[in-house]
Amino acid sequence: MEEDFNSVLEQMTLAEKIRLCHGCDSMSVGDIPRLGIGRVTMVDGPQGVRLEDGRTTTALPCGIALAACFNVKLAEEYGALLARECLANDIQVSLGPGFNLMRTPLNGRNFEYYGEDPVLAGEIAAGYIHGCQELGVAACPKHIALNNQEICRTVTDAIIDERSLRELYLRAFEIVVAKSKPWMMMSALNFINGVRASQNPFIQQRIAKDEYGFDGVMVSDWGAAKDTKETALGGLDLDMGHGDNPVLGGDGLKSLVESGEVPESVIDDKVRRMLRLFFRTGVFNTEKRLKGECNTHRHHDFAREVAAESMVLLKNDELTLPLERHKISRIAIIGPNADNCHSMASMLNCGGSGAAHPDYEITPLAGVSALLGDDVEINYAPGVIFESDAIISPDLLRAPDGSQGLLAEYRLQQQDEVFLTRIERHMDLQWGNLFAAGNEVSELDTRLFTVRWTGQIVPMASGPVKLIVNGARARAHVYLDGQEIIAPKHDIWWRQFVESYAFDAVAGRACDIRIEMERVKIEFTEFKLLWVQNSQDEFEKALELAANADLVLYFGGTNHRYDREAVGGDFVPDADIPDLELPGKQSELIDQLVTVNPKTIVSLINGSVVNVEQWIDKVPALLECWYPGMEGGNAIAQVLFGEAEPGGRLCCTWGKDLNDYACHANGNYPGYCGKDHPHVKYEEGTFIGYRHFDRAGIEPRFPFGFGLSYTTFKSKLMKVIQDGTNITAKVAVANTGERTGSEVIQLYVRDVVCSVVRPEKELQAFNKIFLEAGETKELELRLEWRDFAFFSEEQGKFLVEPGEFELLFGTSSQHIFDSIIITI
Ligand code: BGC
Repeated sequence: MEEDFNSVLEQMTLAEKIRLCHGCDSMSVGDIPRLGIGRVTMVDGPQGVRLEDGRTTTALPCGIALAACFNVKLAEEYGALLARECLANDIQVSLGPGFNLMRTPLNGRNFEYYGEDPVLAGEIAAGYIHGCQELGVAACPKHIALNNQEICRTVTDAIIDERSLRELYLRAFEIVVAKSKPWMMMSALNFINGVRASQNPFIQQRIAKDEYGFDGVMVSDWGAAKDTKETALGGLDLDMGHGDNPVLGGDGLKSLVESGEVPESVIDDKVRRMLRLFFRTGVFNTEKRLKGECNTHRHHDFAREVAAESMVLLKNDELTLPLERHKISRIAIIGPNADNCHSMASMLNCGGSGAAHPDYEITPLAGVSALLGDDVEINYAPGVIFESDAIISPDLLRAPDGSQGLLAEYRLQQQDEVFLTRIERHMDLQWGNLFAAGNEVSELDTRLFTVRWTGQIVPMASGPVKLIVNGARARAHVYLDGQEIIAPKHDIWWRQFVESYAFDAVAGRACDIRIEMERVKIEFTEFKLLWVQNSQDEFEKALELAANADLVLYFGGTNHRYDREAVGGDFVPDADIPDLELPGKQSELIDQLVTVNPKTIVSLINGSVVNVEQWIDKVPALLECWYPGMEGGNAIAQVLFGEAEPGGRLCCTWGKDLNDYACHANGNYPGYCGKDHPHVKYEEGTFIGYRHFDRAGIEPRFPFGFGLSYTTFKSKLMKVIQDGTNITAKVAVANTGERTGSEVIQLYVRDVVCSVVRPEKELQAFNKIFLEAGETKELELRLEWRDFAFFSEEQGKFLVEPGEFELLFGTSSQHIFDSIIITI
């Protein structure tokens, strides 16, 4: 094929070549009919196929959940499912996996990524890529490199030494290129040591292409490239996200080539890579493409299986779990995530580009209710409501005609006359939501408009209140008693906005409210009016239900108001998760629930680490469920009641305090966000996650790699076979309990004596095994040269210093069951 590409290249004009270096719309590239070149269409992954035109797809458990499975085979199947859904929707590229490392638990996109360890992240990502590309759909590992925070992600300069960059943050990219040969790769939005990642020849050209041997297309993150010449010479092949004004396109690039400032051979290399992508994804031979399938039962079943396998059982005193249904007659289901969906809103309210729009989503309440049927009485109270769910009650709203609600007057854009008037009671509005089944499309869904809501708010209780407007693809001004209290802070249409005003309400004293909202884009638009007031009643109700139940199932955590991408904007100082705390008064609630009912089992739905210190010693069981996807509620019910095993292990170290994490302890996060050189230093070097906890001697709440099972295991190192730096270790694992279960064996390497400071130990291999009760099997773990090496800044290359290395075999970074010293 490479020769054929040359002959196509020979036939192309410069303008045609340039046409392949930028998108022809926001999600596709190509389209040169004269040469028989069709289009390649891309969609966001990595948790599903994100389409924004009403087509629904399977919403899988999020990235951190997949990593927690520690199961490369499963990651392959996950990638294959995405490929089948792409094929069924005529899409050629899945823009995933994403695996920037968890440097801080506050990164808003941790939920999408694969945790803190580069070997785990790289192996899981390689599985996904392999599974996807086997079916002819390109994967696109992202974002190379250092997009480890959302705060100021498009403007911040990550300042890092070369050794940490290569040993830690690039290692997973090195692994995926070696093991799964991705057909695309996406660079990051941030700068790296002063140069934009998308214009960075050191990262994109020298390391990814020349050293690792990446032969695919290097695509920019959307809108990341800025300077035509630097981008062209910086190793980027495809510029996306600039609409009709591409950086790698138009006359700008043409004249640079004509003047010789950008050699045509550089453009030819980009085009050759694009042609390779077209060839690989069947653009030249569409009949050969596989058919694919979407939203099928087997895909939904798979989503449920992954969710169960990803759940990490963090605590299980006296075998509280699994529950025995015949011993329970009344359950109290409590918590803000008990009946919450996480993928049924617009992409902006579902975490950003990683969202998927499924047909339905099963909440824990629905899942547990379905599993138990009528045999058990279930009582539900959220106890705490996320601020983003605290929709103002119609009881507080009074329209001018005295009825409950607000008067809405809709005008089409640039028209004075009102074309629709009605009373709106539920201030939770959506327009252009093509996803919800049975939605009838109205004029409001398809047109740009302004709406004015007027009426009064009549508080029922006195005390401090937060009035919040939350929306997407709209702008809103809010006036209380004639005074503007909320004005839009930005004019970027694609951003989600959350703006609030705090005041003291007086029971019964009405205030006039007027809201002027403008819809600014004909895409899924949302608007919510929220009223957050001390909800002691909710709290009390939950405690009362708990006191009268055999058992409390608490479902808390966070939602995508916290775990989300910073879509849009440059200086976004509030884009990450604000702190480690469970939002709202959840910790207090759990604390009180367990006091009134000691059998309070906590399940968390979230995308990163949260603080559990206030109550962890009191509750008998804790299950981490991550964002479990559309079938999550069913999977949670199955795990709690023992129909499935929680098969996950932590892919991040669970600290007790934010300052347990290196970049918080050294004050580097989130860095300087001012206009004059916003930057973030990486002074902790290679010491993130367990590497830091080990060195600093900090005891984590739960270590990396940890997770309990419903059964018990005994593992033993049997044999180590050494051939130079090629090592094969055999470990026998016995299931000593009474249930089927899975164990993850982790192999860490310690360099006993080294001329540079290295982490105490580093994960270099892992393997998962499934065993019946009483069964024993042997598994293998392999190491090679690179697993012993460090990057010598002095010599500018990776080195293995001969001498002793310790191989540590564990079931977490802190539980090592066997070790052996070898000499290299
Ligand atoms: C995200 C990428 C995504 C791209 C296209 C960017 O904002 O960072 O991960 O693939 O948008 O939607």
